[in-house]
Amino acid sequence: MKEKGKETTVSCVECRAEHPLEEFYSQRQAITDVESGVTEIGLLCPDCGRWVHAFYQTPHTKRLAASITRAKYLMNKNRTERSLKAYRRAVQKYQEAFDELQARLRIKVGMVSPTETLGRMVVDIPKVDD
Ligand SMILES: [Zn+2]
Repeated sequence: MKEKGKETTVSCVECRAEHPLEEFYSQRQAITDVESGVTEIGLLCPDCGRWVHAFYQTPHTKRLAASITRAKYLMNKNRTERSLKAYRRAVQKYQEAFDELQARLRIKVGMVSPTETLGRMVVDIPKVDD
């Protein structure tokens, strides 16, 4: 992934086609393992349809992500040192949990195509802003 000014482009591991991240995003799919509650977010190449792993999330990391949104709102509203610290804390907590989860699961699945290694349900998820 590389930055081109404001636009981030992603090149496909399969066909090498480059597309703005936005385009991959519109093709994204989530695969949820019902048993563990782990959702894998992946992007599909607009050219060849190759699945590209993006990241994992769990109800826990989703909650932490939501707490960032709340903290950000309060920070913008109150503009105090305290709300700024609370926001930074929320971001840090999320990043730690997120990194830990990615590291743990990528080792577990050996980073081979997760669609083949784990029996999961493919669901379409709505696009979210962050
Ligand atoms: Zn491709």
